[in-house]
Amino acid sequence: FLTVKQTMTTTLKQALKAHFGFDSFRSKLQEDIVKAVVRGDRDVFVCMPTGAGKSLCYQLPAMLAEGITLVISPLIALIQDQVDRLKDLNIPACSINSKLPAGERRLILADLESSSPKLKLLYITPEMVASPSFQPCLTGLCSRGLLSYLAVDEAHCVSQWGHDFRPDYLKLGDLRARLPGVPCLALTATAPKNVQDDILKSLRLQLPLSFASPVFRSNLHYDVIFRELLPNPYVHLHAFITKALEQGNGSNGKGCGIVYCRTREGCETVAYQLTKLGVLAKAYHAGLKAGDRIEVQNDWMQGKVLVIVATISFGMGVDKPNVRFVAHWNVAKSLASYYQESGRAGRDGLPSSCRTYYSAKDKEQISFLIRQEVTRKQEKRGSAQETDKMAMKDFEAMVSFCEQEGCRHATISKFFGDKTPNCAGACDYCSNPKVVRAQIARAAALSTRTQAAQSTEPKGPFGFRPDLYEGGRKGYGFERQDKDGDTFKRKRVGAGQRGSSNPFQTAKDLLEATRDQSGSNQWTESGGFSNNTSGNSTESAAKK
Ligand code: ADP
Repeated sequence: FLTVKQTMTTTLKQALKAHFGFDSFRSKLQEDIVKAVVRGDRDVFVCMPTGAGKSLCYQLPAMLAEGITLVISPLIALIQDQVDRLKDLNIPACSINSKLPAGERRLILADLESSSPKLKLLYITPEMVASPSFQPCLTGLCSRGLLSYLAVDEAHCVSQWGHDFRPDYLKLGDLRARLPGVPCLALTATAPKNVQDDILKSLRLQLPLSFASPVFRSNLHYDVIFRELLPNPYVHLHAFITKALEQGNGSNGKGCGIVYCRTREGCETVAYQLTKLGVLAKAYHAGLKAGDRIEVQNDWMQGKVLVIVATISFGMGVDKPNVRFVAHWNVAKSLASYYQESGRAGRDGLPSSCRTYYSAKDKEQISFLIRQEVTRKQEKRGSAQETDKMAMKDFEAMVSFCEQEGCRHATISKFFGDKTPNCAGACDYCSNPKVVRAQIARAAALSTRTQAAQSTEPKGPFGFRPDLYEGGRKGYGFERQDKDGDTFKRKRVGAGQRGSSNPFQTAKDLLEATRDQSGSNQWTESGGFSNNTSGNSTESAAKK
């Protein structure tokens, strides 16, 4: 006779194959989570890196339950992607959102109000779930015992400590409290400890079972190179790429890699330089036409182009196993985002390299941009908040990762509240601390010399040095970010400013100017900036 446990395992595996076409669970962790959700006696908290297969943790239980699983997700675009994938698998899933035509919405509501709805998964934004128009439907489902699970995807949006804080996510705590008999599942990518604690508290999870992947990934080798110390950084990057690509030869097809740059201009330059040095590399950023972007991504996915040089708008939802390296040409804006971006390397478990080309200039620019954003928020709100400090703190953690002597893996694990791993030479510091120490000393000496030489130069807002800014005085522009996190630079060409070394007397001037030229950015229902379909529009406006 089979035990209850064995029966459950067999049933789950059969359902996994039947509904999703997978022969096995992606990991033991994924299997354990699904089992815990199916048991349904406890709330569940899941913290796993992007691409680990979190969605299946509620989608498979949803298929085995009688009623409907309500999935809260922050962005209509993410929802649409999930619903399309499920529809391709013939799984009855849909979404109710503000963009849905009235006719379709009526059909969905009619199904939800019927005695045996056909739907299995209903995706919805936090705004919509809180809207009065949806309440009768929710209450009806609940009273008829047809709400199987409440899944809160991207649960870090509930935390004010996270970058993606969404006030409407906070209301989900009340929602959860109103559905006491419905098991709740909160899912997030690897998040710092304070964000994790916030999620459990804010969503009022009841005695949750927590599942988290270990932060340490032994197949990833981390190192940091101080870019300003290099005689030719492009040659250095080219050598790194050539070596990194050799790691995967023969084992998992031809490997490939990603170089992340902060600006669109940076992407174009690095791709050009690499191609000139003999590695075919293509730029990817929101300034490209949508068709070109898709083509570059497809070429990279199919291995026709091995190196993609992209802004951080690239990577979401990209799941390629044989990424042999992720290089950051500019330092990431937080340690959490760095972990996520670099973590796209080595998903197949084979040795892969993660490198940051760190520079003092980048540090100065990013600090400036973060302060600028904080000021903008404070002006909008009319007050300062504790969370304003967070973005700067997160960036400081990234800076420490680069500037401090110590194991890179240990720094990351500590940041996420995980135990110190056994690095065993999987970072530059553990494999050769002397080299790291010498590099830090040389960078410090260079910085002292530069500061002494420049101490008489004029300073801009926040001590920002326009003359040190990429492009120098003659190209002094300023940057803003679009919703994809793409940073792009615009030249200020107003008559009053032409020829001035510091056109912005105050941060406010600068922010006003930034707003003036952002006509194509609109605030969306989901609370983010939406770029007009082509990023070109903003750039061409700036060129006029
Ligand atoms: P996450 O939400 O953690 O970022 P997803 O749920 O989007 O990850 O899953 C990433 C990819 O892994 C998807 O393409 C999904 O189909 C695939 N996947 C999930 N579970 C399995 C599995 N058991 N076997 C094979 N592929 C899987």
